[in-house]
Amino acid sequence: MEKNYQVSGKELYLWRRTAIDRALAAQIAVKEIDWLLQQVSDLDSLSLRLESFKNRSLIPLQHSIQQLTLLWEKRLTEHLPVQYIVGQVPWRNFQLSVSPGVLIPRPETELIIEIAQQANGFSSEEEAHWVDLGTGSGAIALGLASVFPYATIHATDCSKAALEIAKTNAVTAKLNNQIQFYHGDWWSPLKHLKGKITGMVSNPPYIPSSELPQLQPEVFKHEPHLALDGGTDGLDAIRYLVTASPEYLMSGGLWLIEMMAGQAKAVVKMLSEQGDYRDIKVISDLAGIERFVLAFRR
Ligand code: GLN
Repeated sequence: MEKNYQVSGKELYLWRRTAIDRALAAQIAVKEIDWLLQQVSDLDSLSLRLESFKNRSLIPLQHSIQQLTLLWEKRLTEHLPVQYIVGQVPWRNFQLSVSPGVLIPRPETELIIEIAQQANGFSSEEEAHWVDLGTGSGAIALGLASVFPYATIHATDCSKAALEIAKTNAVTAKLNNQIQFYHGDWWSPLKHLKGKITGMVSNPPYIPSSELPQLQPEVFKHEPHLALDGGTDGLDAIRYLVTASPEYLMSGGLWLIEMMAGQAKAVVKMLSEQGDYRDIKVISDLAGIERFVLAFRR
């Protein structure tokens, strides 16, 4: 990140104080200001909270104080998520670029990578093809590439804008040689890999259409509905992934998705009725919410 501006600790302290007053009035968490400041300066969250930066003579900044004020204004008045404002989000060990063309990767999704890693029954000696369907920012594909360094990762998305961002993120993470990106719906660009897939991981849209307007305005107004809207019952994409995946997965291949609270029962039922899956398991996120379903191709 280029830091072309400099500001005194005192000036930044005063800016932060004013921003906090405005955040409190708008019922926005103060930690968002600190998150923004961490992204555009070299300050960490502790020095911000303790305000110990106040005595520094000069702090390098990516933006001028005036630009920072405009950005914070956008956050307050337009409900623009702070991650889109700075264009970055930390996710696992990556610093990902994001724009309104992709869903902002969520912390709860980070766990899906460990689940895949722990459930994988294949050895690194075997040829491995992992798939991230609906890759968005590329977060899951990057995570898979880092825990399966010997594998080829295939990432698809029907949005060209999303693929561009995902490719940039793969280059930044130096994982672009390991990941192949394809434009198209779900499995459709991967016909050549039928029966060869070691594991499929996906965070598909799963929110029922009628519930979208009840999401926070930050999400509803700014994040791509394509990545959120799962149809009438929220399960359209997951239903497709249940039926379409068996012909792509090798025997013992892993099927792993993220879902919303309350969907576990329906997803497990779909998988068992489909007949090609074994060892179906629901896994909770760190907040204790049933968030993931794992199964294996018979
Ligand atoms: N977890 C996201 C949210 O709560 C939804 C992501 C998705 O639909 N896959 O906004």
